[in-house]
Amino acid sequence: MLPLPAFEDNYVWLLHDGNGHALVVDPGDPAPVQQAMQTLGVQLKGILFTHHHADHTGGIAVLHQATGAPVYGPKTESIAGLTHTVQGDDTIQVLETDFVVMDVPGHTLGHIAFYAPRAAGGPLLFCGDTLFSAGCGRLFEGTPAQMMQSLASLAALPGNTRVCCTHEYTLSNLKFAAAVEPDNQDLLHHTAWCMQVRQQGKPTLPSSIELENAINPFLRVRQPQVAAAAHGFDPTIDPQDALAVWAALRRWKNVFK
Ligand SMILES: [Zn+2]
Ligand SMILES: [Zn+2]
Repeated sequence: MLPLPAFEDNYVWLLHDGNGHALVVDPGDPAPVQQAMQTLGVQLKGILFTHHHADHTGGIAVLHQATGAPVYGPKTESIAGLTHTVQGDDTIQVLETDFVVMDVPGHTLGHIAFYAPRAAGGPLLFCGDTLFSAGCGRLFEGTPAQMMQSLASLAALPGNTRVCCTHEYTLSNLKFAAAVEPDNQDLLHHTAWCMQVRQQGKPTLPSSIELENAINPFLRVRQPQVAAAAHGFDPTIDPQDALAVWAALRRWKNVFK
């Protein structure tokens, strides 16, 4: 499993099975995918899309034409070139691996995630722009309640699930997370590790559900320090109200520098 860098900070995830077959997720740019196919000597057997934003879907026509691979994407979003539309609780099989589709509205209304509970090497999640390491996607279309529920469904997956997010936002998310929870030791340790790997030009991903539950403020709204920090940002909210805390965190992150 490889994150192929694209544009400024996108990753196109490529999963290959060791038998010359691969799938890719959210190829906004076809070029890094075509290059990796050549380097690795793999054929594309599936192209998966989580949502309709152009930095995720831009490679659809070129890759489908070049490979004939089936193209999966959300039923309720308009993406030209899908061959299979899917929605929550559907299961698709690609590379002889079952992927369960999860509806995760919030960043966009039809956003889906692909979860492979029995992938080789352990459970695997492709979550697009819903869950980022130490953060989450902006609410372009959905409500805080929708996004909080979507994140809760991802946070409930097994702790060893590898989390493949589509952007390298980790260090800036960690900066915000540290402002929310300055005493979170897991957060401080992970920040030190991420700074090191970014200095080496390597990705901080994949993350894991266990790690995100320990460091991601958007999954930790019931922690007293998180609730207190959100209340400090917006004293009008009730710190016992998890949704109000979550929404305040999201508003705070939008203006955080
Ligand atoms: Zn997006
Ligand atoms: Zn994106």
